Amino acid sequence: MSDQKVGFIGLGAMGWPIAGHLAKRFETLVWNRTFAKAEAHAREFGSRAVPLEKIAEAEVIFTCVPVSQDVDDLARALLPHLHLGTLWIDHTSGEPEQAKQTARKLAEQGVRYLDAPLSGGVVGAENARSTVMVGGEAADFERARPFLETYCAKIVHVGPLGAGHAVKAVNNALLAVNLWALSEGMVALVKQGVNPGLALEAINASSGRSNVSENLFPSRVVTRSFPNTFALGLLAKDLGICTDVIEAAGTPAPVLRQIREFFAIAKREIGSSEVDHTAVAQLLERWSGVEIR
Ligand code: NDP
Repeated sequence: MSDQKVGFIGLGAMGWPIAGHLAKRFETLVWNRTFAKAEAHAREFGSRAVPLEKIAEAEVIFTCVPVSQDVDDLARALLPHLHLGTLWIDHTSGEPEQAKQTARKLAEQGVRYLDAPLSGGVVGAENARSTVMVGGEAADFERARPFLETYCAKIVHVGPLGAGHAVKAVNNALLAVNLWALSEGMVALVKQGVNPGLALEAINASSGRSNVSENLFPSRVVTRSFPNTFALGLLAKDLGICTDVIEAAGTPAPVLRQIREFFAIAKREIGSSEVDHTAVAQLLERWSGVEIR
């Protein structure tokens, strides 16, 4: 066990297992808005549940909350307690511009900041196989690396502050495009009498394959299990961030703009943001009158 102390805020679907990995290697302080979850984490992983201001005692602070505004609110609340030289690693899938503002605020207190969203889902986090895309200064990235190695299989410094969030937003827009497009294709095939398992077997050995066809459809849709690990609302949020990235770049992006609109419609039609993002396949099924099973 290293003698370095880390603090983790946000023990949700992603934060829970990641803080668990950290607790095996470092003294880990945890705080969660619903505090009972922090206490449960301490019981399960040997972390220490502490009041929010105590998190400031850590040399490295991690956040993994829904949106960048939550991170900024936490930074504001912790500001009077933070120490010179603390490193703040934000695992939220957030907004590049908001991250820069939060970083500026923290810098006034001598706190370093990296935007470091994760990919690989809950299963990747549980198995310490996450991918992390990091924005920020090289020296801060090198300082973060030994901590990230605790639970990441792939660690990429993608650029300056905000670049991590931008890359993550584009990544998730690609996930959304694949999810929607494969749902459209599969309902058409099933309606024509094609067995979905055989269709996926062929596609997954062909050029149209993706994480959606290789993993999500076989394990969640065809099995009808739809486990709730990544909320539709969180993916829709990422599509809004991707649109901001496109606006800032001023580049053409008709498909990525459209997919945001599709997911807004899906959220309205399904009537919930809390369902798993793969519920989009069920919406296409409902519109088509078939089930991909
Ligand atoms: P969850 O909804 O499972 O957890 C959110 C966590 O943030 C909870 O601990 C929640 O506390 C806390 N929280 C919510 N609002 C606030 C607030 N205003 N202030 C302080 N804490 C707050 O989300 P996920 O773990 O799924 O996602 C977290 C981030 O990671 C998101 O940005 C998401 O887009 C991203 N992500 C998610 C992936 C996934 O597969 N789930 C994959 C990759 C990235 P409480 O317990 O009180 O509700």
